[in-house]
Amino acid sequence: MRAAVVRSNSDGFVDIVEKELRPIKPWEAKVKVEYSGLCHTDLHVAAGDFGAVPGRVIGHEGVGRVVELGSEVTALKLGDRVSIAWFFKGCGHCEYCVSGHETLCSEVQNAGYTVDGAMAEEVIVDANYAVKVPEGLDPVEASSITCAGVTVYKGLKEAHLKPGQWVAIYGAGGLGNLAIQYAKNVFRAHVVALDINDEKLESAKRTGVDLTYNSSKPGAGEWIQQQVGGAHSALVTAVAPAAMDEAVNSVRSLGRVVLIGLPQGTMELPIVNTVLHGIQVLGSLVGTRQDLAEAFQFGAEGLVHPIVHTRKLDDINDMIQEMKDGKIEGRMVVDFTK
Ligand SMILES: [Zn+2]
Ligand SMILES: [Zn+2]
Repeated sequence: MRAAVVRSNSDGFVDIVEKELRPIKPWEAKVKVEYSGLCHTDLHVAAGDFGAVPGRVIGHEGVGRVVELGSEVTALKLGDRVSIAWFFKGCGHCEYCVSGHETLCSEVQNAGYTVDGAMAEEVIVDANYAVKVPEGLDPVEASSITCAGVTVYKGLKEAHLKPGQWVAIYGAGGLGNLAIQYAKNVFRAHVVALDINDEKLESAKRTGVDLTYNSSKPGAGEWIQQQVGGAHSALVTAVAPAAMDEAVNSVRSLGRVVLIGLPQGTMELPIVNTVLHGIQVLGSLVGTRQDLAEAFQFGAEGLVHPIVHTRKLDDINDMIQEMKDGKIEGRMVVDFTK
């Protein structure tokens, strides 16, 4: 079977190779991949930014059908459509795994990084960790919900967002656009979208946001305080530390500021404001199996639609270059069905 693997020199690109899968273990399943999205995280893996993993199959936004089952598997049956996500598997017994925070497991395995991922015609999964994709959900859209969708959905859960409340969403790109859809259509919240790019704010307006602000102008937080009395929460998808600082200024008392973007560097946290207003700042990392199942279900109900475009596996290095050049709108998804 064909697979995209990290090069021996970790130059940021991949080689397409013929690869033989090992036999599956009793608790595993073999999945024939239908669609697999390319993510910025794959670029980091291919460049060795998290440590060199030459020969590793990339990909953690995969969707496909189960074609072989290990002898002990009870969670899946042949033909089930399942996802292959960045959270591939936890240890199952640490304090985080048993308390509903399995993505924070210290022995976590990640698809396309510590184990072979989904940018391949076939992939082996642990049957207890492969989340089923509802039949009503477009599998191309599902590939994007597997990573971007569940990340923003979980971030909004961590924000404790309630119907009718205001949330400020920093960054209206791929993650931000999906966050707006979950916030409006699932959480039934009011949304202020912020970005430095007017085109992205225009597309946010078409997605139904209530207010937009071009954050290349300073004072976004103060403006939100004037407009709506401060947001109840803020979700920062932008990869600019300045957006994190501004997000803290944009929330009202008891506001929660949830960070999911991953820029290098540090953020400014005004101590007096944080203490006097009981502001909470927290990070949120992808989502658990349950979060992903919920995020899929809302997609299947038609409440969210990721922007996706399909490509061929042979285009993978062009896709990587386009992503590096910032030329991609929405998600590029490799179609393995043809
Ligand atoms: Zn991803
Ligand atoms: Zn664990």
